[in-house]
Amino acid sequence: MIDLKAINLWLFDMDGTLYLGDRLFPFTLPLLTLLKERGRKYLFMTNNSSKSVADYIKKLGRLGIPAGEDEFITSAQATAYYLEKHYKNRFMYVQGTKSLKDALRARGFNITDVYSPDVDCVVTGFDTELTFQKLEDLSRILLNKDIPYIATNPDLVCPTEFGSVPDCGSVSEMLFNSTGRRPKFIGKPEPLMPQLAMETWGCKPEETIVIGDRIYTDIKSGLNAGIHTALVMSGETTPAILAASPDKPEAVYRDCGEILELLKK
Ligand SMILES: [Mg+2]
Repeated sequence: MIDLKAINLWLFDMDGTLYLGDRLFPFTLPLLTLLKERGRKYLFMTNNSSKSVADYIKKLGRLGIPAGEDEFITSAQATAYYLEKHYKNRFMYVQGTKSLKDALRARGFNITDVYSPDVDCVVTGFDTELTFQKLEDLSRILLNKDIPYIATNPDLVCPTEFGSVPDCGSVSEMLFNSTGRRPKFIGKPEPLMPQLAMETWGCKPEETIVIGDRIYTDIKSGLNAGIHTALVMSGETTPAILAASPDKPEAVYRDCGEILELLKK
């Protein structure tokens, strides 16, 4: 049992947790409103590094969720946080969207998207602007085994309105085939996004929770960060998947509506 009323920092997965596709769950706004009224901080957490926070504010706005700049934690932000800690002054080849490159430039990183023998760090993201030239550049740069290689998120596919498209993890597999190297991944299931959130908002693991519909990403990132974990059955996870998973969430709820009811009690 998690003492939900004692939680100060709430990290929400979005799709499958707060909405499904383009359908906002009816309990989402009342839950977010209640948390705000009680002075709790919540953040929307996403592995998608192809979109900027501004893009997400627009998307949530279309669904009817008002959101501010400081209410997101993205794999791009966590990647910048990791790079700052470990590779601050490197010359980075970035394979990602314009939005990812802009975000890294804005943080003061020295980046390029053109091959150079001087590159001494590689960053890859969910790149909806991928070209063969980039794959060739990366295959060449990564031959040097000493060059750190960081990727924003391990997802193999990203859901779309018609099915899925290859995500960062799939392109990493292509590069593994050409270079024998796999990246250090940053997004869920790694603990970096929850860690960055706790550091930013000055919260301890025992007062922080991650809520999501996927065990192998959302819940795993929470377990890896040592925070509370709550699985909601309103998205991808079926009872059979939960039973078969070696990783168990601390609590399982029907959906965020059940969490709202518990907070109101
Ligand atoms: Mg989800």
